[in-house]
Amino acid sequence: MTPESLNNNSCKIFIDKCSFGRGVFAAQNITKGEVIFTFTGKIITLDEVLAKEEQSGGNPLQIDTTTYIDLEEPSVFINHHCNPNAGIVNTHTLVALIDIGKNEEIFFDYSTSMSENEDSWTMECRCSAADCRKTIKDLHYLPTSIKEKYLQLGIVQEFIVREHNSVGKISLT
Ligand SMILES: [Zn+2]
Repeated sequence: MTPESLNNNSCKIFIDKCSFGRGVFAAQNITKGEVIFTFTGKIITLDEVLAKEEQSGGNPLQIDTTTYIDLEEPSVFINHHCNPNAGIVNTHTLVALIDIGKNEEIFFDYSTSMSENEDSWTMECRCSAADCRKTIKDLHYLPTSIKEKYLQLGIVQEFIVREHNSVGKISLT
């Protein structure tokens, strides 16, 4: 069953200005593997997402084939990075992939929650990673080595893992 909405308060983070506008920063040292926060917002359908995009845009988090979280603060402010220090597990829980120091910005790789069903989503990236992909697309466009790393870390949304397994694009072994 899908919850009506997802709410939580995390004292581990704060919102501040950054080179991308606003971002999410660590309010304390966060240890590798630690839960940072859970993404919060109203649960909406693909139709609602498309209607929203026509009006004002928005950046909902996809958690299942046609289910999204219409992100609210603070989760709406988390930015993408091609070499992220955090990732999403259990559809909407953000965990640290490495030790994150106090006041460091927190990022995840947006491709880990982007499914090929739409296949039209792209985003220009200007992150500081040495291997920045420049144009961010759905998961299946990732280089195999990165895809496998993310799959091993368990930070690819389950619906995408299911989809890719069913069409043989990703092997989980
Ligand atoms: Zn990048």
